Amino acid sequence: MIKNSNIEKVLDQIPTPCYVCEEALLERNLQILDDVQKRGGAKIILALKGFAMWSTFELAKKYLYGATASGLWEAKLAFEEFGKEVHTYSPAFKEDEIELIAKMSDHIIFNSINQLKRYKEIVKKTNPQISIGVRVNPEYSAAPVDLYNPCGAFSRLGIIKSEFVWDDTIEGLHFHALCEESAESLQDVLQAFEEKFGTYIPHCKWVNFGGGHHITKDDYNKELLIAIIKDFKKRYNVEVYLEPGEAVGWQTGPLVASVVDIIHNGMDIAILDTSAEAHMPDVLAMPYRPQIRYAGEPGKKKYTYRLGGNSCLAGDIIGDYSFDAPLQIGQKIIFEDMIHYTFVKNTTFNGIRLPSLAILRKNNQLDIIKRFDYCDYKHRLS
Ligand SMILES: *Cc1c(COP(=O)(O)O)cnc(C)c1O
Repeated sequence: MIKNSNIEKVLDQIPTPCYVCEEALLERNLQILDDVQKRGGAKIILALKGFAMWSTFELAKKYLYGATASGLWEAKLAFEEFGKEVHTYSPAFKEDEIELIAKMSDHIIFNSINQLKRYKEIVKKTNPQISIGVRVNPEYSAAPVDLYNPCGAFSRLGIIKSEFVWDDTIEGLHFHALCEESAESLQDVLQAFEEKFGTYIPHCKWVNFGGGHHITKDDYNKELLIAIIKDFKKRYNVEVYLEPGEAVGWQTGPLVASVVDIIHNGMDIAILDTSAEAHMPDVLAMPYRPQIRYAGEPGKKKYTYRLGGNSCLAGDIIGDYSFDAPLQIGQKIIFEDMIHYTFVKNTTFNGIRLPSLAILRKNNQLDIIKRFDYCDYKHRLS
């Protein structure tokens, strides 16, 4: 169970399926990040890719310096709803979007020397204050799976050393090589980065250490991170940025679903009003097993069920879980830690209803921010 979660106090009020972000838990994460900012001297910005629930940005922008975007729409969202600094990186910017992106961005980060050369003049002309950077590939990573390894073989993300050419418009270097990783992993990546690109750092105003820092996880070595940042800033006299997504949304609330039916085919199977495929994509992609409140491994407790989604995809299975009592039709199931990398990726596959978005306020008031309907499905299809 997630520490200090108050979701059960409002369980009766939650329409399912629904993601509920707990404001108090989000604020706790933001305070941990702010502590790193204050004691380490880095600036932390939110990666919208992992967490973009903009109804929480009033709170997030009290602590963070801005947001980081991966293209026009995220940049627009950051500009409209977060304000402060907007940093935009894209694997490849398109000609018809670059001016609008430049207008809204404080930093723009190119993924190749080609792109830098192609757009540097137009970007500077559109926004003379913009700071230009490039993403480099340190060709080192400890990422857990290939799907989430930006430095794997033939990666398209970031310029490798042999392709790198210095350009006088460059004010910053960016790397992103981690995924759910420790300060010790950052140390290794930083060493690879400095070995390959160290000679250029003194010509920069800033270095962006990317995301993937699991800073808000209990066992993360914050003191080491702070020491790394301070040491780096001292040696190079540059601004340091971190841009986590997951660490902001980590353990800030569940996806609540209901049991719609229970059937039997070699085992008990519960069909829910949610879907692994549409609402918790990492369950199938990583793959990973979400925690369910009060449930255990199959066979551990008295009643074991396979939990399946309400789509017709045969593989839309969340997993096998055991419970102390038999499940009942209509019963609510609490999937823990479902706020990051979930609704940012949701689809209306198979016409399954998108889960509502809610915020549990610090005074335990439940605000349903958004309910989705048939139009959200229909309008995307023609
Ligand atoms: C995904 C991504 C992030 C955020 O990564 P997290 O693992 O969510 O912290 C930051 N920067 C870039 C360039 C990314 O692609």
